[in-house]
Amino acid sequence: MAPRLPHKRRIVAAIDQGTTSTRCMLFDDHGQIIASSQLEHEQIFPRPGWVEHDPLEIWANTRRVMADVLARSEVTGDDIAAVGITNQRETTVVWDKATGQPVYNAIVWQDTRTSEICADLDPADFAKTGLPVSTYFSGPKIKWILDNVPGARERAESGELLFGTIESWLIWNLTKGEHVTDITNASRTMLMDLETGAWAPELARQLKIPTKMLPKIVSNSQVIGRIKRIHGFANVPIAGVLGDQQAATFGQACLEPGEVKNTYGTGNFLLLNTGTEIKRSTHGLISTVAYKLGNEPTVYALEGSIAVTGSLIQWLRDNLGLIAQASDVEKLATSVPDNGGCYIVPAFSGLLAPYWREDARGVICGLTRFHTKAHFARAALEATAYQTREVVEAMNQDTGIPITALKADGGMVENALLMQFQADQLGVPVTVPAITETTALGAAYAAGLAVGVYKSLSEIRAMWREQVTYQPQPSDPALFDGWKLAVHKSFAP
Ligand code: ADP
Repeated sequence: MAPRLPHKRRIVAAIDQGTTSTRCMLFDDHGQIIASSQLEHEQIFPRPGWVEHDPLEIWANTRRVMADVLARSEVTGDDIAAVGITNQRETTVVWDKATGQPVYNAIVWQDTRTSEICADLDPADFAKTGLPVSTYFSGPKIKWILDNVPGARERAESGELLFGTIESWLIWNLTKGEHVTDITNASRTMLMDLETGAWAPELARQLKIPTKMLPKIVSNSQVIGRIKRIHGFANVPIAGVLGDQQAATFGQACLEPGEVKNTYGTGNFLLLNTGTEIKRSTHGLISTVAYKLGNEPTVYALEGSIAVTGSLIQWLRDNLGLIAQASDVEKLATSVPDNGGCYIVPAFSGLLAPYWREDARGVICGLTRFHTKAHFARAALEATAYQTREVVEAMNQDTGIPITALKADGGMVENALLMQFQADQLGVPVTVPAITETTALGAAYAAGLAVGVYKSLSEIRAMWREQVTYQPQPSDPALFDGWKLAVHKSFAP
């Protein structure tokens, strides 16, 4: 039974620490947005393939958006029942336990500097994590820091240093010293046994990571500590923590086996709820934790991670100058009836699901004198839909049960051309919910469930509302065949 709450405490705050920005949002007990505050942070690119963030900037921005969201609303700390946290996954921080100083910048999930570390690892050793060996995950990033920051390994071995992904870093700072991670973030380290939900010490040994620097693994919905430092939030419990894609899955109410969501942001991330059984993929998907609520059994997911979708639109804008803002791509793409045979495969740092080819590099192909920038715009949007289709087909093959509907969210769902093309490519309806901020919403749901603002999963399901559904129309099968040929051109010879 969830505890009864004093009359006032009916609001849940969600901190959404993403790849490009940090947000704090307030939700009421019907899951409606009351207020929101957001700040971007610097993207640091020291070398090709390297991507870093400053953990102290992220912590400072978190404090600022928390204070600002209260200032923008009539809400005080006394009204807030709980805080939920969701975060960019895999991004790795190592810091000094005594001073709170990071020993190095956060190494971001997109960073590929660990390719040599990964090349030396045997994927069979990591099968129990549900993950392929990839630069994408945290474990190799921790090893890189310990190998490359002077003195770091000795300090880690003597217990002076702590590791955490971003949620862990923020919780440690917010609570002044609770060193925890949640099971979804832990499942992305290549160090967690997916079956038991515990660290696998032999994998830590293999990566030469002292287990004493690892946080304690907690569930996604439980009171894990109280906020100490933030004015207005003093003593408010942190009661929900999930990685961003799992939070979006929860926020989309994908609570039954077979339900699937696709988030269209910087990259695309499809998660299919597979229930309390782990489903092992033979088609290039990741087995991962969807969520675990308190002491209840863990619910698992199959995930298809696509590195570059919305960021290809940013590339058209920033590197080619074809458009002034991301939303202009729709008008430009609509000015031509089709791609005219032009394809863009955005394998900027290899391809993730379902290929896992670090050697792949981007290609633009099928060009003739006839093509214009409008075809590039169209090909860029289509690339998102084809990559999604490949992941959905892998899911269908892994489960043997074809997906019959897709819930979509993220920045790109504003693009009606893309959403319609997606429905046509998949041959199933694509639905955008009324609240597209599903990541923050999912973290709020998890926190609110733990303290009784939301009573049950069926209440959460009932709060989910549709905004628009795109029904599939017949489309030319040759389009997708052309995409497959283009993908093969992106592989190194
Ligand atoms: P993230 O949470 O990964 O930072 P968002 O969900 O905020 O990303 O989505 C932003 C991405 O969506 C950007 O990469 C941007 O290029 C893309 N985007 C935003 N609006 C549109 C649009 N109307 N059409 C196509 N892409 C868009």
